[in-house]
Amino acid sequence: MRGENFASTAGFGLRGRVPRRRSAAVAVLLAVTGLVAGCAGAGGGHRAVISLPRAVPSGPAAEGDRPAAAQPLPPGPLGRYVAKLPAFPPAPAPTPVTVPPGPAAGWYSRIQTTDRVAFLTIDDGWVKKPEAIELLTRAKVPVTLFLTVNAIKDNPDYFTKLRDAGATIEAHTVSHPSLTGRSYAFQRKEICGSADWLAQRYGRRPVLFRPPFGNKDATTLRAVRDCGMKAAFFWTETVDKGKVRYQKGHTVQPGDIILMHFRPAFADDFLAALTAIHKAGLTPAVLGDYVN
Ligand SMILES: [Zn+2]
Repeated sequence: MRGENFASTAGFGLRGRVPRRRSAAVAVLLAVTGLVAGCAGAGGGHRAVISLPRAVPSGPAAEGDRPAAAQPLPPGPLGRYVAKLPAFPPAPAPTPVTVPPGPAAGWYSRIQTTDRVAFLTIDDGWVKKPEAIELLTRAKVPVTLFLTVNAIKDNPDYFTKLRDAGATIEAHTVSHPSLTGRSYAFQRKEICGSADWLAQRYGRRPVLFRPPFGNKDATTLRAVRDCGMKAAFFWTETVDKGKVRYQKGHTVQPGDIILMHFRPAFADDFLAALTAIHKAGLTPAVLGDYVN
């Protein structure tokens, strides 16, 4: 992993100042850069690599108030990120899908809906950048966290703050193993164990689950259901190092599930995800509200 951190914003700021008439050429250049950089991680197998030509969205979807910037901006690099946070209209009343009855939990890569919404999910929890709390508070958007117990147990209060800023905490195993092919007992211990721990620590039992690496089998979905959760999730888009990678097309579609992680480039990834949702004319919504 590149040693990217919150202080290294020079390249990002430069992109924001690219004149619009040059943006197409710059987008091509950045897409090539993204292809080179996207050689590892969860997004490596996806067909299309699209980078953000501009940090600040333009066009009709960008109009409206800017609640994130309504307060005085924080000093330094964080202020520049806050200034670029898009403002969204409220999410519509949800039209949830119903998990099929039976012994297995539901499995979804996206939610089938015509609502103008998308779902931002953030996994693991190893890297706990302080600016994530400020950014989520300022962005005023719902996010779903799939947290790994072993990644968060050294500082669970960090995630209490994120929860209080609008995050919903869901389960992602105790130790982050690949579950495919493992015994029912092994999978149940990892899955129930994470839900139990999160319930005890945060006062709400998770109802959603994401398997590490997106790896699951029929045993996984049975254990998820037996552990009292409704559904498990893959994803549609991934975000890493400030770039959104699409499995299909190059726009976020209604019902898409976007995956990012708690990584050193959290601010770049969070801003890239929200900007992509905003450019698509969509609003972030609560994933759990869309599953019955
Ligand atoms: Zn993970």
